[in-house]
Amino acid sequence: MDCIFCKIAAGEIPSKKVYEDEQILAFYDIEPKAPVHVLVIPKQHIAGAAAVTAENAAVVAHIFAAIPQIAAELGVTDFRVVTNNGVDAGQTVHHLHFHILGGARLGEMA
Ligand code: AMP
Ligand code: ZN
Repeated sequence: MDCIFCKIAAGEIPSKKVYEDEQILAFYDIEPKAPVHVLVIPKQHIAGAAAVTAENAAVVAHIFAAIPQIAAELGVTDFRVVTNNGVDAGQTVHHLHFHILGGARLGEMA
């Protein structure tokens, strides 16, 4: 499948890794929108939040269990977690990912 985040998960495209285990990977966003901007992805391809099901949701729980650890490693106590689903919501990479944004006072969004 021609998916950039599958390629990053497989190590075929380099990334600046922050955290990795068998199921998930966290790496720095190439175009940071905040002083700290990391993406957390499942290694398995899930197209986005709308493709999360009872069958694959365990990896999403796993991501959320890892997020405090990742944030601590990044040195942020205050952070925002965002996922964009669909083009109108700003999703450009159609592989589920959670943005961790922090390191500054973030503007209101939601
Ligand atoms: P979204 O717009 O929510 O789909 O987020 C996709 C994010 O992936 C954007 O913030 C991009 O800057 C980021 N991105 C795209 N390609 C790469 C890459 N090769 N390495 C790291 N981040 C990337
Ligand atoms: Zn993928």
